[in-house]
Amino acid sequence: MKVIYTIADLKDYLLKEKQNNKSIGFVPTMGALHAGHISLVDACTRENDICVVSIFVNPTQFNDPNDLATYPRTLDKDLALLEPAGCDYVFVPGVEEMYPEPDTRIFRFGNIAEVMEGAHRPGHFNGVAQIVSKLFAFVEPDDAYFGEKDFQQVAIIREMVRLLGMKIKIHACPILREADGLAMSSRNLRLSAEQRLKAPLIARTLKESLTFVSCKSVREIIDYVVTAINNDPVMRVEYYEIVDGNSLESIGNWRESDYIVGCITVYCGEVRLIDNITYKG
Ligand code: AMP
Repeated sequence: MKVIYTIADLKDYLLKEKQNNKSIGFVPTMGALHAGHISLVDACTRENDICVVSIFVNPTQFNDPNDLATYPRTLDKDLALLEPAGCDYVFVPGVEEMYPEPDTRIFRFGNIAEVMEGAHRPGHFNGVAQIVSKLFAFVEPDDAYFGEKDFQQVAIIREMVRLLGMKIKIHACPILREADGLAMSSRNLRLSAEQRLKAPLIARTLKESLTFVSCKSVREIIDYVVTAINNDPVMRVEYYEIVDGNSLESIGNWRESDYIVGCITVYCGEVRLIDNITYKG
């Protein structure tokens, strides 16, 4: 496994691989890796000759400076996880390398970037599109792997690839969970012992809500989920929306779509956790 710090080196190494007709798979990450990230690396190594992983905490996608400052950084541990997973190249650029000058591009994704995470984290998806479009341009992968945990992000990336006319196949991989159901996340490292015990309430409540679909309306399920989680004084639901899985438009009843997903964001203390569940599709 080769660790690369500059765009020039990245391009050199990958050009040689491409000249040897190797297919390139790519997994962009912000580090603090866990088994969820490694499941993307596993899919990537299975389906491609060469697996490239990037680790870069992208400042332009953080709208909260404190969140950026406290984002966990665990490079040595990350590299120790990636090597046995079969990763070939790890790209670890500095901020100067990725942003030698400010990126002023504005992406217009419409509704999919304006709801849910888009509404609560202004500029977040523009920052995601800035960094992922740069990484895609430098790596030029055949395939790229993202987690369904960031459900809205996958929709944004697919739309970005379409808008930019890139020929990259986007794969969405299932959410990996801890034994108690909590969706794995780098941010889980920031939970106190008490918060860590409480956090599985999110996944548990979403799973429970699945069993009510045949007897409760969309509105009733939203109210049930929000109330059940907010009942715990450590937790505060920021939003819970039940949407069409493609358009991300809120739905009013279960017959409105064949693909229905519930997306939630919850503050567990100061730590912002996201999760989702598929009701239909
Ligand atoms: P991040 O480092 O948080 O930006 O995540 C990098 C990639 O890993 C994104 O595509 C995430 O959706 C994905 N990912 C994060 N957590 C999980 C998880 N628990 N299961 C599957 N994929 C995940």
